[in-house]
Amino acid sequence: MAGQILRLEQAQSLLLDRVKKIEETEVIPLWDAAGRVLAEDIFAGHDQPPFPRSPLDGYAVRSEDIAKASKECPVRLTVIDEVNAGYVSRRCVTSGTAVRIMTGAPIPKGADCVVGQEDTDYGEAVAEFYEAIGAYENYCYAGEDYKAGTKLLSKDMALGSVEAGILASLGLKQVKVYRRPRVAVLTTGDEILLPGETLLEGKIYDSNLYTLVTRLTTLGMNVVRTGRLGDDAKDVAAWIEETKKQADIIVTTGGVSVGKKDIMHDVVNRLGCERIFWRVAVKPGMPTLCAQYQGGLLICLSGNPFGAAVNFELLVRPLLGKMSQKKELMLKRSQAVSENTFPKKSTVDRYVRAYYEDGKVRIPNGSNASGILSSMCGCNCLIELPAGTPRLSEGDRVWVILL
Ligand code: AMP
Ligand code: MG
Repeated sequence: MAGQILRLEQAQSLLLDRVKKIEETEVIPLWDAAGRVLAEDIFAGHDQPPFPRSPLDGYAVRSEDIAKASKECPVRLTVIDEVNAGYVSRRCVTSGTAVRIMTGAPIPKGADCVVGQEDTDYGEAVAEFYEAIGAYENYCYAGEDYKAGTKLLSKDMALGSVEAGILASLGLKQVKVYRRPRVAVLTTGDEILLPGETLLEGKIYDSNLYTLVTRLTTLGMNVVRTGRLGDDAKDVAAWIEETKKQADIIVTTGGVSVGKKDIMHDVVNRLGCERIFWRVAVKPGMPTLCAQYQGGLLICLSGNPFGAAVNFELLVRPLLGKMSQKKELMLKRSQAVSENTFPKKSTVDRYVRAYYEDGKVRIPNGSNASGILSSMCGCNCLIELPAGTPRLSEGDRVWVILL
């Protein structure tokens, strides 16, 4: 069973080679578009705004009528109509006339500019104008934002608030996106209880299920099934068998080391899956086991909460990034100066939970051991200490992976 321990980059590329960008699409409500990836080019179906409109509250006039207006010599025009945003004036502005107009209202025919009300006497029937302005001043053209037929958004673009606003401005309430990666999560261990169950002697609550599912949801993934089972290879194999059709990736925790109850090796054999590798030269979480089932990948992480969390980031997150085309899911490294010491030397690449801000990185109080979760609270990065790194000292330059 032993085999070779892979370097992290080898393990990552073996897995990345086995996943593809997801091409299947679905149409979803625009409300749900945040974080999704657009599966079609979007062209404007109309001009935006669809009509010339006033950018301020004032009077729509013909610029030539007020060409000589000044404070000393005001020009008087007859106000023939009033138009507010959302309505249309059917009157035409002819020589000697004006239409009272509010911001956002369509500029009536005949007018070629809008005089702000501050430059008038606010007249109701007749208004005095104190300033000359040129043609098309204070005049928003139809299509000033975009013209009908313009390509506004491109296929494969990630959708955020601005894109949602653009789609809405086109009157669209649905959008065609790629389906999200479907991920199932199973935790294993006879000692594992679900929150809500009574804590019995020798047992602990399942934190991995919640850490992983919350992480997947945060990354915008489709969690299709979750489960918790004991250390029984037959049960675990049956669960995976049932889940295979629904999931692109099945993530499990527990049972990947060399103990008598480390059943995942047996599970992989029972399933007849192709084993891709077992063990990656990283701490924590070295004994990760990965296999291929028809249609997807089985990633079996260590049960230790920090080991599972770290290897999820290092091995699973990049796969999700490739499948979903979300570049922000690919691992991003940054250089930082350490504000602490870290006493342990590293014989394999070691990952230390930490908090990164403005080029500095701080290791929290508390243990970095693989079984410890609580000190990860508030951390936003992993310090990467390559194999052979001596103890880390304050002021040392390090690389961090941003979470
Ligand atoms: P294993 O990988 O099964 O050898 O488990 C390693 C350590 O992680 C043991 O101390 C387990 O009790 C613990 N552990 C396993 N699964 C979980 C889980 N789902 N939540 C919290 N701790 C776990
Ligand atoms: Mg176990």
